[in-house]
Amino acid sequence: MSKALPPDDAVLRQAVIDAAQAMNGLGINQGKSGNVSARCDGGFLITPSGVPYEDLTPDAIVFMTLEGRYRGTLVPSSEWRMHLSIYQERPAAGAVVHTHAPFCTALACLRERIPAFHYMVAVAGGTSIEVADYATFGTGALSDAMMAALGPRRACLLANHGMIAFGADLKSALGLTVEVESLARQYWHVRMMGTPIILDEAEMAEVLRRFATYGRQPKDLAPGTPQALEFPAKLD
Ligand code: 13P
Ligand code: ZN
Repeated sequence: MSKALPPDDAVLRQAVIDAAQAMNGLGINQGKSGNVSARCDGGFLITPSGVPYEDLTPDAIVFMTLEGRYRGTLVPSSEWRMHLSIYQERPAAGAVVHTHAPFCTALACLRERIPAFHYMVAVAGGTSIEVADYATFGTGALSDAMMAALGPRRACLLANHGMIAFGADLKSALGLTVEVESLARQYWHVRMMGTPIILDEAEMAEVLRRFATYGRQPKDLAPGTPQALEFPAKLD
């Protein structure tokens, strides 16, 4: 049974604001760039376009339906199409974060993907993090390019622009953004020092298998799900 979606209420609106306001302090964005949204009953809540994050109040957050119509006193983020496409096509997406994270953006300007130079690349759900083809910000073309670059993964870079990530909720979308930016920074350091050794598909398949249950307690796994990691015998 799928979980009931949260309603469009002051609590979720404030959570969107809190996530948006956290971005710059986390070093994953700057200024008014970027946007944040969260799925709710009937659609999703998204930050308005061009409003400094410190000025956001719950009534400034915009409601959008999955048919692409909005209700609000302000217009939605210019990137509403990217958010809408993810909610339409990825049922697991409960929140979306788009930022101009510095190291992701640097790679995206070189049109360079993040390969499996580190096993943590699997955090986005695949064996690499791809770069979407360039398209003008705020366009359907950018949304199409983003969906193609995402494929089955939960994050991608956006050429000459930044990055986008989604997760089950705001905490996981924000957390994935931090991980991807950290990978981009590590990859930059490695490339400055030399040529990284890229993990092969077989090794990354094993990493992905382990990621399926990593961080989850046995009691939280569906009955019959094998734990991919080996743990020592329990004392009591
Ligand atoms: P908005 O202020 O319209 O959300 O735009 C910011 C941005 O990052 C555009 O790509
Ligand atoms: Zn942007």
